[in-house]
Amino acid sequence: MSADGAEAAGGTGPLDPAALDPAALDPTDLERLERAIELARAARERGDHPFGALLVAADGTVVEALNTVHTGHDPIGHAETNLVRDSGQRLEMAELATSTLYTSTEPCAMCTGAIYWAGIPRVVFALSEADLRGLVSEQSGVPTLSLPSREVFARGGRPVEVVGPVALPAAAEVHRGFWD
Ligand SMILES: [Zn+2]
Repeated sequence: MSADGAEAAGGTGPLDPAALDPAALDPTDLERLERAIELARAARERGDHPFGALLVAADGTVVEALNTVHTGHDPIGHAETNLVRDSGQRLEMAELATSTLYTSTEPCAMCTGAIYWAGIPRVVFALSEADLRGLVSEQSGVPTLSLPSREVFARGGRPVEVVGPVALPAAAEVHRGFWD
């Protein structure tokens, strides 16, 4: 995906043309991805950045997390980093190794690193990092990182399946007007 695509997606533009059709997704994956977007909305409503994520273990255990940058006074309180920390406290590494992480927006480089260290083998996201960059130029004065999750995972020593972006308008809508 190109920088031009990111600009075209800014504000009210269309989603990444390479995004997957939600109908092509496994219905369970789609339901969980929609839940991640609901969590992003909840984060926004309580005053945090609009990002949410959940992890589902093979036995059906669900761990959910919201962004806590503002309410937690935590610059690294991203939804996925929070989720990895919480999941690590609740689940064994063997359980993490068969889980899937769903997130409303593609994980940033920091969160992708956290997911990698947790041994989580599968990530499903809705809004692409490129589309996010079209909506957000900086976070609290810090420019966003431009490093797709697949590129970070590709540097690691174990494969991580990445599914996304998925063309869900709600994933962009939850950001609309927040970063203006
Ligand atoms: Zn992050």
